[in-house]
Amino acid sequence: MRFHVLTLFPEMIEAGLGSGIIGRALEGGIISLHTVNIRQYTAERHGKVDDYPYGGGAGMLMQAQPVYDAHRAAAGGRKVRTVYVTPQGSPFTQKKAAEFAREEELVILCGHYEGIDERVLEEIVTDYVSIGDYVLTGGELPAMVMIDAIARLVPGVLGNGSSAEEESFFNDLLEYPQYSRPEVWREKRVPEVLLSGNHSRIAAWRLERARERTALRRPDLYARYEAKQAVRERLSGDKRNNIHMMESLARGRGEILYTDIWAGGEDILLYDEKCGTAMMTAGDGESGRRLSGILPEEAERVLITQPFLEELLAERHYRPAQRCRQVLYTMRNTLPVRHKDIRRLTADSLKDVCCGGGPGAEDYVRGRIEAGDMYGAFAEGKLVGFGGIHSDGRMGMLYVEPDYRRQGIGSALESYMVNRMLERGWTPYGHIREDNRAALSLQEKLGLYSAAKTFCWMEKNTCKQADDMLRF
Ligand code: SAM
Repeated sequence: MRFHVLTLFPEMIEAGLGSGIIGRALEGGIISLHTVNIRQYTAERHGKVDDYPYGGGAGMLMQAQPVYDAHRAAAGGRKVRTVYVTPQGSPFTQKKAAEFAREEELVILCGHYEGIDERVLEEIVTDYVSIGDYVLTGGELPAMVMIDAIARLVPGVLGNGSSAEEESFFNDLLEYPQYSRPEVWREKRVPEVLLSGNHSRIAAWRLERARERTALRRPDLYARYEAKQAVRERLSGDKRNNIHMMESLARGRGEILYTDIWAGGEDILLYDEKCGTAMMTAGDGESGRRLSGILPEEAERVLITQPFLEELLAERHYRPAQRCRQVLYTMRNTLPVRHKDIRRLTADSLKDVCCGGGPGAEDYVRGRIEAGDMYGAFAEGKLVGFGGIHSDGRMGMLYVEPDYRRQGIGSALESYMVNRMLERGWTPYGHIREDNRAALSLQEKLGLYSAAKTFCWMEKNTCKQADDMLRF
């Protein structure tokens, strides 16, 4: 990912981001930083970039022209998302950081004095972001705060892919207390459970401490966490059909857009903003219509199990794209993997991965490889099969080269993926096309349960080709 920072103090940005993890990521080329000194673009003599505000008032304003030209120098005529850091923006959150981390390039504009001439902001800014309800002297610290939070979510920056998933704000909980050596310090002992080596006791202890801490320090976050727990509890009554919604909530992906379960109803509408997927279950046609009425404009797909919702969604310009069965693995024990060489794929393997579709599919698979969620089976030194975890969390994309079929490679790949998901504390699940009998019987053999209902992926009519997420 490439960051461009438009600033009056480029040296401050470069010095601030040059060390530690972010400095290493810059050195290693995982991210890059391009600072643009706005002062170099002024048409005024003596490098002046500010002037008095029309209508009077305290202080000076940064003028439109140098900011506009500095932006052109950074974005070079491309449409690049451009953030103006300002106390008047919407709050910067972990969720926003994750959203920005999906951009290939980002321009951050740092203001000074009393701010910037409104006209240039109207021309170039796509997002207004504040780092808190206080006023700083300039936008450099906010830009650095944002870059740090965004960059550590870029695959490869932190090294350990799962560490960002266990931190504060993931799943609406603050992180649990942590301890390091020595075991006793100033007569304070490390909690006994952490020395026990019992991973499930440790996980339970950590969850409990995280809940206590969040309830005490951030009651607003805790209320959201509790709402999600209540919805998961309700969905667990029909786990096989609802595991996609339960896991979406458990993994901190889906947000509740609507539910009436507290009033004894059955309506639930979840939305996974990262991949544009909504999940819906409705008590009856009337509530189905209400839920489809509040679907976000950007929802590319809606996942449903109730046939009557198909018609209602057709009115909202969605068409059925794929019918499948949901399968899930409910045991906690790992599966035997009967192929020696299965490993996480790296970017080098992309050329060998048959993406089964157009250029969008290749981009999609590249993203999954970068996220560390694609696994390959190798034989005789070459890639002979692969599978992965989709961006919405289900297993899929399973493929074995024709010459290597019927040798248990597909089953080994799937077992491997099940084990990786279990390691992360997830319930492994997937969607199998209804007519794919071979895949359905493989699931059975591995011990996955199949849901009774048919799932329908509804896709926006505006999608030109079948969605890449649904291809495999
Ligand atoms: N007069 C402006 C106002 O009331 O909104 C404040 C200007 S501030 C002194 C100068 C610059 O610092 C802003 O243009 C902005 O880029 C940056 N800044 C200050 N506080 C910020 C915050 N909380 N979040 C993001 N940027 C901030």
